[in-house]
Amino acid sequence: MHLNIYKFLPITEVEGPGKRACIWVQGCSIRCKNCALPQTWPKDKGQKISVEELAENILNIDEIEGVTFTGGEPFDQAKALFELGLILKRDGHSITTFTGYKLEDIMNSGDNSWKNFLSVIDLLIDSPYIYEKADYSRPLAGSSNQRYHFLSNRYNEKDLSSKSQRIEIRIQKNGKISLNGQVDPINLKKIFNGLV
Ligand code: SF4
Repeated sequence: MHLNIYKFLPITEVEGPGKRACIWVQGCSIRCKNCALPQTWPKDKGQKISVEELAENILNIDEIEGVTFTGGEPFDQAKALFELGLILKRDGHSITTFTGYKLEDIMNSGDNSWKNFLSVIDLLIDSPYIYEKADYSRPLAGSSNQRYHFLSNRYNEKDLSSKSQRIEIRIQKNGKISLNGQVDPINLKKIFNGLV
């Protein structure tokens, strides 16, 4: 089985508890107004990679305690992410997932691939980004309607309470700057003004 991804980071400290790998999936059917990554929306773009290859890459990374799935919309590729999640969980990795769907809608969907995927998730951050409710005061959330769901006993509120919103900035060999994490756009402007 293949997964269509937009981006993969082997180690990050701003996409969930502890050090984690992070996969941004390609394709999003939700399409929130002012989404920060509209380039992840088209399903016919991105890079196709087999679940087995991705799992092997991740299992070879030292130091990480888990993986985060974000996007794009992870539940649009629930079957492949369930398979990947199963392999990683067998090795003790934790799974954090962002989704634009609401947990209740996932549970009531009657879609078994969604329910299966849910069963391997430890921490779910749900609900669409609502521009009019933009709120950058909490970690891992961009609007006040988004919620944390601790779906196993792996994590709890304490694992997030010490964290503020943070970003990572990487300067690649070709001079290209990449950025991930969450931060208020006003603070982001201040950071970039300080860099130049
Ligand atoms: S669900 Fe996520 S990726 Fe999709 S439009 Fe909303 S914020 Fe963007």
